[in-house]
This record gives sequence, structure tokens and C-alpha cells, in this order.
Amino acid sequence: MSSIGFIGLGIMGGPMAGHLVAAGHEVTGYNRSPGALEKLKAAGGAAAGSVAAAVAGRDIVITMLPQDEQVVEVFSEILEHAKPGALYIDFSTVTPKTSEWTGAEGAKRGLRVLDAPVSGGEPGAINAALSIMVGGSEADFEAAKPVFAAVGKTYELVGPNGSGQVVKAANQLIVGGTYALVAEAIVLMESLGADAAKGLDVLAGGLAGSKILELKRKSMLERDFRPGFRIDLHHKDMGIITQAARDAEVTIPMGALTAQLIAAARAMGHGSLDHSALQLVAEALSGKANS
Ligand code: NAD
Repeated sequence: MSSIGFIGLGIMGGPMAGHLVAAGHEVTGYNRSPGALEKLKAAGGAAAGSVAAAVAGRDIVITMLPQDEQVVEVFSEILEHAKPGALYIDFSTVTPKTSEWTGAEGAKRGLRVLDAPVSGGEPGAINAALSIMVGGSEADFEAAKPVFAAVGKTYELVGPNGSGQVVKAANQLIVGGTYALVAEAIVLMESLGADAAKGLDVLAGGLAGSKILELKRKSMLERDFRPGFRIDLHHKDMGIITQAARDAEVTIPMGALTAQLIAAARAMGHGSLDHSALQLVAEALSGKANS
């Protein structure tokens, strides 16, 4: 069992840290807003008052933070205070470039760095059923397996530092585009008088079936857009995807359109709703009243 410093105990990080405690690790957490620390203490973990206090002397350091800005800020402190040889796992979704940077800077100070963004959302975090896309070395991936096994079901090493983020970008591209198409399908069926609920049941069992149809068709039909995964975060991810495509000099026209639809949801004031709220954009584009 390892000693772990865990920074960022939000929607995802909170339950993940709890699973690591349950697996027998000694977990010390730090979070900017203090409410989350109380939950970790109740789960059997310890609370620290700073990044430095959470990471000093630990075998493993973990971050689960919103965006690049927070990862860069916190990682600078980790570089200063983590012990040489410590394993650093960043579960946050950030740009591949930021993960390449943490890998390179970490190596200079003797840290072993993995980027390990996740998919599966809040239910995946709560049920320890996340899919984890890992960038880094084979040896560090092996060393991190007990951590991945405690929070996830599927985990794969997909290449060197930054590659986990590239695969996560591909994931968000597919998820965003699928939501946009399911939303349009609902508008179409409802507008032409078909039973959309029964229609989606049938579609879920055919070639159009997907995890999104399976898990979200009911809440979309009921216009229940409580998050889940916020439009604001998916907007951030679409920025990562479009920039990664520019860097690679490839074109992703479907992705570019999806990015614009998600930006529209945000501009319409839906940034804090679940990403399934793309339904509201599809309806507005057809002049349908949002309920
Ligand atoms: P969140 O906003 O709920 O949690 C982030 C936590 O980090 C918050 O508790 C915040 O107080 C803390 N924090 C922010 N800056 C900090 C700092 N400088 N020092 C210490 N703590 C700080 O976000 P989340 O939904 O848990 O998402 C975290 C990451 O996981 C994001 O990159 C997101 O894209 C990714 N992700 C989220 C989901 C999801 O469904 N929510 C799914 C997959 C991936």
C-alpha cells in the first residue's frame, strides 16, 4: 500500500480519493474549497492545508483539477515539494502539450509522470468504473496499476506523455458529436409526430445504439439537464481538440461544427448544465421553445 497526496477533490476527485482509501492506501487530500476535505476525512483520509503539505514525502501524487491553468499552477508546487522518485499521476483533462511539459519537467527533477485522463463521468467515478487513457512509460504504468485498479475498470497505456490526452480528446470528439446528433434526432421525431421515446428505444438496440442513447435518452426526453459533465468543461475540451488538430495539421470538420454547437450552448447561458443540454441548442435552431 502507498502513501498518496491527492489534489482536487471535486465531482470526480472526491469519489476517486475515497476508493483509494477503501483500497487501503494512506490518502492525504488538498482542495481549494474546504468542504471537500471534510468528505475525505469522513471517508478515512487526511486533510492537508496546502499542496506542499499534501505531497511532501508521499510515494504517489495525484491531481484531478479542472483545466491546464490549475494543473500548471499546482504542478509547479509539486515539483518543489514532492520527493524524488515519486510517481505523479494527472487524471485531469488538459492539452497534450501540458502533459508533455509535466512529463519533461518532472523527469528533470526525478519524478515519474503519467497523464491519465478518464472517461465515465460522475457515475464512473462513484462506481470505480472509469476508463483511463494513460500516457507515459511502461514501467511507470506498471507501478500505477494498483491506483488505476482502485478507481477504474479499463486502463491502457496508449503512448508516451501526452498520448493519454490525445485519446481523451478523441473520446470527447465522439461524445460531443453523438450528443449533437441524438438531440437533432429527438427534434426531428417530435416535430414529425413520431413517438420519440419508443423511437429512441428501438434505435438504442440497432446500429445507432450507443452508451449515450443507453444512459441519457430518458433524461434528454424529460429535459433533465442537471450535471453530470458541464457544458463549460466540454467547451474547454473542444478547444483542446481543435488546437490538437491544428498542431497535427489535420482537419476535423464534424468536430469543428460540434465545437460551435457547444459554444452556442454556453453563449445561451447553459454552461453549467450537463452536455446533453445540446438538446436546447438543437431546439432553438429549429425555433422550438425550450422547456
Ligand atoms: P470539479 O470542478 O468538480 O473539481 C475540481 C476540484 O479542484 C474542485 O473541488 C476545486 O475546488 C479544486 N481546485 C481547483 N483549483 C485548485 C487548486 N489550485 N488547488 C487545489 N484545488 C483546486 O471538476 P470535475 O468535474 O471533478 O473535473 C475534474 C477534471 O476531470 C476536469 O479536467 C474534467 O474535464 C475531467 N472530467 C470530468 C468528468 C465529469 O463528468 N465531471 C468526466 C471525465 C473527466
